[in-house]
Amino acid sequence: MQDLFNKRKAKIDSFNKSRKKKEFVPKEIPEYMFRNCPHCNFSISYREWIDELYVCSRCGYHLRISANERIRQICDRDTYYEIDAKVTTVNEHDFEGYDEKLDIAQRSTGLSEAVVCGVGRINGIKAVVCAMDSNFMMGSMGGVVGEKITKSIEYATSRRLPIIIATASGGARMQEGIISLMQMAKTSAALKRHSDKGLLYMTLITDPTTGGVSASYAMLGDIIIAEPNALIGFAGKRVIEKTVNETLPPQFQRSEFMLEKGFIDLIVERRDLKSTITKLLILHGVK
Ligand SMILES: [Zn+2]
Repeated sequence: MQDLFNKRKAKIDSFNKSRKKKEFVPKEIPEYMFRNCPHCNFSISYREWIDELYVCSRCGYHLRISANERIRQICDRDTYYEIDAKVTTVNEHDFEGYDEKLDIAQRSTGLSEAVVCGVGRINGIKAVVCAMDSNFMMGSMGGVVGEKITKSIEYATSRRLPIIIATASGGARMQEGIISLMQMAKTSAALKRHSDKGLLYMTLITDPTTGGVSASYAMLGDIIIAEPNALIGFAGKRVIEKTVNETLPPQFQRSEFMLEKGFIDLIVERRDLKSTITKLLILHGVK
């Protein structure tokens, strides 16, 4: 037990040291660059990407954004404070190469784990807001991600607050085995207790949301919002095609297809996201 405690402490200390050394720089696009739209290949300046919330001004393609940028876009300025910011993962099963992968992810994103959780105000309305980051090991859900999400839901339940979770994940984190799968049940149970109190839970599904996250809290929202053209699914398209021995339609597992089939409630463009969330909060009596 003492060993485990020391191991955790050493990990947290080294993470804190690396945070102090390097000022966090948003990862999206370096300031001096133009970046072509991955969809229409139109060359767009750094400034324009920022002004347009990382949406292509020509074709409307939504770039993947970091958790911090997502929070910046949803919450009012200087109202967000993070909960459990320093909780980090410890490679308890000594999975080969896991420590290195965590280290690289932490240094490249400036985050301690693949989700940022906290409380902020959305056009003045107080809410718990969590955002996942696909730059951190593809937003995979291990013990810490599940625990941070669960604690945020419990925080919202005890303070009678609505909760909004922006998902972006490749699924469960394979390096943590069964522990990562357990997070699906744990987060779902916490959401049931939140729901039993008559509180509002909204999901914002972003590209990509697959595997264990799509099969748990991503799909449990009272209202499920998705960004345009986001990949949403459990198993990959090729796996399904091989299993059912059929060719699937090209838009299969994209937001528009999921809306048509009734899996999600609405698709909202990024520029309308904050106002739509605000309207929905007011509509449900949240003040
Ligand atoms: Zn474009």
